[in-house]
Amino acid sequence: MLETQSDSRIPSARAGDGDRVSLIGQSRQELAGHLRAVGVPDRQIRMRVAQIWNWLYTRGATDFAMMTNMSKGLRADLSSRHTLKRPEIVDEQVSADGTRKWLFRFPPRGAGRPVEIETVYIPEEGRGTLCLSSQVGCTLACTFCHTGTQKLVRNLTAEEIVSQVLTARDRLGDHPGDTPTDGAALPTTGRLISNVVMMGMGEPLYNFDNVKQALLISADGEGIGLSKRRITLSTSGVVPMIARTGAELGVMLAISLHAVRDDLRDELVPLNRKYPIAALLDACRAYPGLSNPRRITFEYVMLKDVNDSLADARELVRLLRGIPAKINLIPFNPWPGSDYICSDWDQIERFADVVNRAGYASPIRTPRGRDILAACGQLKSESERMRIRERMALEAMIAG
Ligand code: SAH
Ligand code: SF4
Repeated sequence: MLETQSDSRIPSARAGDGDRVSLIGQSRQELAGHLRAVGVPDRQIRMRVAQIWNWLYTRGATDFAMMTNMSKGLRADLSSRHTLKRPEIVDEQVSADGTRKWLFRFPPRGAGRPVEIETVYIPEEGRGTLCLSSQVGCTLACTFCHTGTQKLVRNLTAEEIVSQVLTARDRLGDHPGDTPTDGAALPTTGRLISNVVMMGMGEPLYNFDNVKQALLISADGEGIGLSKRRITLSTSGVVPMIARTGAELGVMLAISLHAVRDDLRDELVPLNRKYPIAALLDACRAYPGLSNPRRITFEYVMLKDVNDSLADARELVRLLRGIPAKINLIPFNPWPGSDYICSDWDQIERFADVVNRAGYASPIRTPRGRDILAACGQLKSESERMRIRERMALEAMIAG
């Protein structure tokens, strides 16, 4: 079983555009090293790092030529060795509800092949959430998840994770001074991307180092500047990495719980065989900084006649006692080949009532972007893209 990005079985070499190394996703220290390498004197390093950081993350620069507060010579030196290139946008779909899904292609790393991943933007009243991928595919094969049917190809690098944020901001016109491009559903004031969730393809805690670097850049006050309260990392329960997530990242935590008994969770989330419910909840109780405003979100996918009885709801409440928690009920999103059926709406509401009466907020997550397969658990990229016949089957399933 893979534990972290440093696992040697997962290739995740850094690379850029040809031989040019991208400056996106690098720490300030790494940036300083690159600047020294092109001859920037020591006394200027701090200032230059701050300038580049601002261009990359506040202004969204895509070309060194834009960096007009640096000499032409330095810009030329940087562009001969480095790139700020975004991924190729293979596809951009806009759902009837305003949700957007991008299929991004990243160039090969080392001897590998180009990879494709999906990123989703969900506009809502007063906020906009960007759902990021952490891996190409997933090793974990949860039985209700479409991504889980795609084998792990490789971990994404920090550059590729940060690039999802920057490219989405490019497309939405969310850099300062930009004006929104199109899409009437987008709010016209404030930050379009106000929240980030690591809930796309992959298990972020099996790519810890890269996810950490990318999320720290996203939270950096001199850069992308999202508050850690507005960044949520979702895990299927990699227990040994939960304490480090709290200590080193300090972002909000979401746990994909989905079942209240080990026999059922073993089946739905096979990682449970390694880290059973009791161990998972102990790690949650110990999560640093836990308090009522900093609650853990427990995600619970509603599967008809599988995990949706009122006895399950009561057991859920009993299990979570003492943990500041919110329970997010997710109506199951179907995908071609899936065996499950979404619980009836009445049953979801009855389940929510039990949880509510015990004092927990239990919002039912409105499915977003189902028509473009952008809802939770529906993501799956090329490297294995949906065939037309599969898509038609899905559309028929949604319509019917
Ligand atoms: N791998 C991480 C993060 C990505 S999944 C994790 O599992 O937590 C984001 C959320 O969508 C998880 O709670 C996941 O269990 C849920 N999900 C997966 N497939 C789904 C589906 N078909 N319908 C609804 N939710 C689903
Ligand atoms: Fe992987 Fe999360 Fe899907 Fe499970 S639910 S297969 S951990 S992406």
